Amino acid sequence: MRCFAQCETAIRKSRAAFGRHMYHRATETYMPLDQQAILNRARSQLALGTTESLRYAALECRLLMEELTYEKLRAYAELLPEAELNKWQPREAVKMLLAIDPAADQGVKLAISALPAPEDRELIKEDYERMEWVPLGEHHALSLKWLKNYHKVGALLHAPKASESSTMPIEKQQKLLTDILEELTKAAGSTLRSIVNKGGLVFHCIGCNRQILANRMNLLKGSVALCPNDDCQFEYEIAPHESGEEPSAVRPKSATVACAKCAHLIHVPKRRLRAGHQFECSKCSAEYRLGEPSWPLMIRNAE
Ligand SMILES: [Zn+2]
Ligand SMILES: [Zn+2]
Repeated sequence: MRCFAQCETAIRKSRAAFGRHMYHRATETYMPLDQQAILNRARSQLALGTTESLRYAALECRLLMEELTYEKLRAYAELLPEAELNKWQPREAVKMLLAIDPAADQGVKLAISALPAPEDRELIKEDYERMEWVPLGEHHALSLKWLKNYHKVGALLHAPKASESSTMPIEKQQKLLTDILEELTKAAGSTLRSIVNKGGLVFHCIGCNRQILANRMNLLKGSVALCPNDDCQFEYEIAPHESGEEPSAVRPKSATVACAKCAHLIHVPKRRLRAGHQFECSKCSAEYRLGEPSWPLMIRNAE
């Protein structure tokens, strides 16, 4: 578990991210499941200790793993392509989150200093150790590794395969479900529901102005970031920075032309550079359609 209380940059990051529970489109009407009720049902079924009751306990455990993961996805919704919000297997969803935030499956403790920090100098490690911290909350995350339990517990929901002689022994099932419930209780009891770590480079798409996050890991190795807006699809090349510290260069993979009517610069994503693609000038709304075969010489006004 990361502890933010000791780290200045982490605190800055978490301040920026604090309260950023972004919901959009389908997530706007979302009604959360009652996580404590799921836990209670799972516990009482586990306590009954029959083969059938354990099956129901397993079902409730899987339901809660999904709910906790989707809750996290919703917090990142602003930064994700809509198609990615449809990932339903917790491990797949968390893997995708890790691509934009390498800490997406880690827990966080958030604390704030009781006194304002001096502004005339950079704080050092000893300053943080001396300061008095007021805890704001804690987030217990289900790690990618732990989420293997989603499939493990799934085995209790099915009849033994033709190749297997029996299901898992009942004592083993009870042990598995007890351990899983312990972890789920911690996660469902998180006082901070989700932390979106924007500790990378956040920039606005030139095509649609949506926010795009390139995580720190990507900045170091150089990669491609994609606009999360499915209707836009601008791609950006992220050049690795030599020092490995500060944001590296971001270049849109696009063609740029001046509008024939108002001279406003129009950017067209590279992946849309094909005959027939239509777009308009965002300033004067002049409409264009790409002709054939070469760009940009064959651009012509659609009117
Ligand atoms: Zn965009
Ligand atoms: Zn124009």
